[in-house]
Amino acid sequence: MSTLNSQHTLPLDQSIIDSTLRTSHGEHAYLIVEKLNDAGFDAWWVGGCVRDMLLKKTPDDIDIATSALPEDIVKTFSHVDERGKEWGSLHVTVGKETFHITTFREDDAASDGRHPKSVLFGTREQDAARRDFTVNAMYFHPITRKFYDPYGGEADLLERLIRFIGDPALRIKHDALRMLRAVRFRAMLDGQYHPETYIALQELASYIEVLSGTRRLLELEKILLLDNPARALEDLWDLRLLEYMLPELAVCKGVPQPADYHHEGDVWEHLLLCTKAFTDEHGIDVRLATLFHDCGKAKTFSLKDRIRFDHHASVSANLTRHALQRLQCPAKRREKICWLIEHHMMMGSFFDMPDERKAHWYHHPLFLELLQLFWLDIAGTDPADFSLYERIVADRNAFLDAHPLPIKLLLTGEEIMNILGISPGEKVGEVIKALHEAQIRGEVRSKKEARIFIERE
Ligand code: ATP
Ligand code: MG
Repeated sequence: MSTLNSQHTLPLDQSIIDSTLRTSHGEHAYLIVEKLNDAGFDAWWVGGCVRDMLLKKTPDDIDIATSALPEDIVKTFSHVDERGKEWGSLHVTVGKETFHITTFREDDAASDGRHPKSVLFGTREQDAARRDFTVNAMYFHPITRKFYDPYGGEADLLERLIRFIGDPALRIKHDALRMLRAVRFRAMLDGQYHPETYIALQELASYIEVLSGTRRLLELEKILLLDNPARALEDLWDLRLLEYMLPELAVCKGVPQPADYHHEGDVWEHLLLCTKAFTDEHGIDVRLATLFHDCGKAKTFSLKDRIRFDHHASVSANLTRHALQRLQCPAKRREKICWLIEHHMMMGSFFDMPDERKAHWYHHPLFLELLQLFWLDIAGTDPADFSLYERIVADRNAFLDAHPLPIKLLLTGEEIMNILGISPGEKVGEVIKALHEAQIRGEVRSKKEARIFIERE
């Protein structure tokens, strides 16, 4: 590709540049370039922020690439987090804003797709060549307002084309994460793959297994946080990346559901439809739980009076546990996500519970997220019937109005033992439980009533 006209005056919309420079982030990112230039180094805004500005969006994150070496960056700024120094990538805080400043680097062609073996610092040209896609290798200089676009990123962006820089197969083999990034950027830009990029993605899907679980999980999370994750998830299936990365989800395709209740289609279609209902309120754990919540349906399918998936919630939770272990998800988060999945069918029989059991749920720290999962499950079902959800929310609101705080026991365990003349043991637990339930029912309201109650029990 010609690089003749690669450095020219900016094609960017003047008003976007102005509005970006007026934000606190833009203002500080300008000052960083100025400071580096004053110290004698080349420095540019790069990557996502330039892409955003060309799309007429004010970027919320501005990354900076520079000829300054890590030690020069450390000398130039007072608040530098030096953890990425070895890789030439530092976090610098200016004002209240933190920026990622990266020294121009050369691609490490010897890496095996897991860890770059070494980092070679290089020129701006080499730095552009090591970036993944043409649309991610554009540079903007906020002072001179020059635009550096050596791989035709602007033209590709106009066509919303995701195209690897260099030989796609080689670039994937050097870092398999780039496959997931290709899928994410295509969904984010609502775009298309360049034909050679597409062929390489199709042929090399199995390379995804080389990647560490941590990097796979991080990218999966970014995908789930997109405006339209379903678009990316469909691609993961088409490209067979899902089969290699999340086989427990890949098998959901084609698993039939009872036609009367699920006009949306098979289990995979149901999961996709659920993710389409994500809103800003839904955190990443709820999103992950939603993605996996029915994966056990493939294993539990049976045809009785109608299609049934007995015990699919606990089977799904177990499969998810294995998947998240593979993705090196920290144990605490993993167990939370699995807990949500395990309990997602509970709402169906919610009003069969006695009041004290419902009260337990209303004060449960994960109940709101469980409700969100329940809502998303309904939203991903055609026809969607929210009536039970609405009843539970109304009942919960009424309950919390009456009992704003978790019910605190009117007597301590010690007081109970003294009053009843018993020693620690099972009996104390039983009395505590009975007293707690009586308090929830409103039968016991004071310490005195509590004493009478336990003596009577
Ligand atoms: P986002 O809006 O998601 O932050 P971004 O383009 O800024 O998009 P980042 O993941 O923040 O993406 O990466 C910043 C830049 O670093 C990219 O634009 C790209 O040029 C380069 N980059 C990131 N990861 C890779 C990779 N695995 N291989 C090659 N280049 C990469
Ligand atoms: Mg970024």
